[in-house]
Amino acid sequence: MSNAVPPRRSPDKPWRSEGAPLSPPPGKKMPGGWGGLILAALAVYLIANVLLSFFGRGGEPAISYTEFTKQVAAGNVSKIYAKGDSIQGQLRKKSPLGDGKGEYSEFRTQRPAFADDNLWDELSKHNVTVTAEPVIVQRSFLANLLLSLVPMALLILLWVLAARRLGAPAGGGAFGRSAPPEPVEVEPGKRTAFDDVAGIDEVKGELSGIVDFLKNPQVYRRMGARMPGGVLLAGPPGTGKTLLARAVAGEAGVPFFSASASEFIEMIVGVGASRVRELFAEAGKVAPAIVFIDEIDTIGRAHGTGAGLGGHDEREQTLNQILTEMDGLSGSEGVVVLAATNRADVLDPALTRPGRFDRIVQVSPPDRAGRAAILKIHTRRMPRAKDVDLGRIAGATPGMTGADLASMVNEAALIAVRRKQPEVTQADLWTALEKVQLGTERPLVMPAEERRRTAYHESGHALLGMLQPGADPVRKVTIVPRGRALGVALSTSDADRYAYTEEYLRGRIVGALGGMAAEHVVFDVITTGSESDLEQVTRLARGMVGRWGMSERVGRLTAIPPDVQQPYGLAAAPATLDVVDHEMRRIVDECYESACRQLREHRGKLDALAQALLEAETLDEDEAYRAAAIPPPGKET
Ligand code: ADP
Ligand code: MG
Ligand code: ZN
Repeated sequence: MSNAVPPRRSPDKPWRSEGAPLSPPPGKKMPGGWGGLILAALAVYLIANVLLSFFGRGGEPAISYTEFTKQVAAGNVSKIYAKGDSIQGQLRKKSPLGDGKGEYSEFRTQRPAFADDNLWDELSKHNVTVTAEPVIVQRSFLANLLLSLVPMALLILLWVLAARRLGAPAGGGAFGRSAPPEPVEVEPGKRTAFDDVAGIDEVKGELSGIVDFLKNPQVYRRMGARMPGGVLLAGPPGTGKTLLARAVAGEAGVPFFSASASEFIEMIVGVGASRVRELFAEAGKVAPAIVFIDEIDTIGRAHGTGAGLGGHDEREQTLNQILTEMDGLSGSEGVVVLAATNRADVLDPALTRPGRFDRIVQVSPPDRAGRAAILKIHTRRMPRAKDVDLGRIAGATPGMTGADLASMVNEAALIAVRRKQPEVTQADLWTALEKVQLGTERPLVMPAEERRRTAYHESGHALLGMLQPGADPVRKVTIVPRGRALGVALSTSDADRYAYTEEYLRGRIVGALGGMAAEHVVFDVITTGSESDLEQVTRLARGMVGRWGMSERVGRLTAIPPDVQQPYGLAAAPATLDVVDHEMRRIVDECYESACRQLREHRGKLDALAQALLEAETLDEDEAYRAAAIPPPGKET
């Protein structure tokens, strides 16, 4: 897929980057890795050899004095220079050396002290110039010095080259920084944009503030506005978290640095922290930029929730370094940190403290409309037959994530190629869907029966929420799973409430029991899907009876300490607690009766709401009230 994360270019850097300004590729000096190193060493050796032989030429042959006098007599000596008894000279014509090893034209010799010849007469007779300067320039002191340094320089050069090869994987330790990250070349206009992400519009909305900040950091800086802290994208695999992070960078047109938390610690122990430091340093250099840390739960697990990768210390050090870097970001740098996790529930609370990942954005699987939009994105560059109906495919794939849909579409294209068709047809898409479903262990598509039950469950909550007088308006109903919940019916009030009436609290209990009541009324079954509903009901009832004086039998006293974790019974006599228990049951039973009765009474509305939910999967406030044919509550304010 074109949206796939680019591969890491070099294994010694745990992060990838795209959109960073182009720097000269660091590979230039040694084009071919080890081959290059060998070439370089060879070149150095050759150059040194040439130099040595050049300087080494100073060794003109020493000839015998006899030979010298012969040459003088033959008139073959052009000039000489004498210092004491040492003589240097030059021949007119090259002469063979006595031992037969080549010829010579320059020479030196030594005049024996006992030589009794008349050398000066001989010389002048044969027109030999006697010069005042050495005929052969001796190697200077500097040349000598340089020459003696050559082997040393050679050694140092080799050592540095080798160290650069070996040192790099260790995080550039001994030899300073490793080379700047290689940018992944992205064709202009080819970077991921928000257009490539569909079905999670709320999330896009939440992130658009960051895009704006990255586009105009100076505007925010001028206003003294604080930089957005880190944002944690939480959601099941394949819902587009990575894609979204890249899209934020692409939209803002800033460099994107990404690393998987496990990659920081997978290879060599003890380098996680230094890599984090390097990553942030690189991003700081090209800021504004985005640093994206994927799978942060592998190192960010709270203590005691099972060991992650690597040693405990390694994990902790790496995590601490990330936190330190984030604390160090004052905001003026323009580095924004995004992270992704499948498991927001297991994260170390240190990660979500203010100034760190203080915003958690839930990324959910797409609903029906979202799936249609995702299918459209992934088929936009495919030739499609006229019969292709993406809406129907979307309707048949509840539960599938963006990644599932992307691989299904790809499979359809492969099938079309195999069938030698010019276009992808609807039949190809159906075959691909079957194939993709067979290939996975978890059921990709939610079973129809379970969807129906979930739809009634959530409709039960929503309908009772609509029917209770004075209850908070229903804002959203969905049967798209969120976290551990199979669906959600969300009610929030228009204004903050500071005190609750008994009637309101009873309404809340009735609403919370609505899911279970609907399953009971419609299917006559009880499922495990109501666990968290019952927890909420218990909390409310306990408060009403034990702390808020809403039971005549318990009376106006605090029978239960505010902290529910504390051992029961410290605040009241056992008899009182028995009464509390009894009263809680009474209230909950009454509410459950009421819930079932209302649902039976309004069965038509319940069916209509559930049907609408099965169709659209997500209903907003207006759609939900319309489906149930109940007038939306007048806005209080
Ligand atoms: P995650 O990081 O949440 O596991 P990814 O971002 O890696 O998911 O998604 C993998 C691929 O699935 C993406 O590259 C993209 O092709 C596709 N995909 C996932 N979600 C969406 C989406 N909301 N819109 C479009 N494509 C999506
Ligand atoms: Mg991912
Ligand atoms: Zn429920």
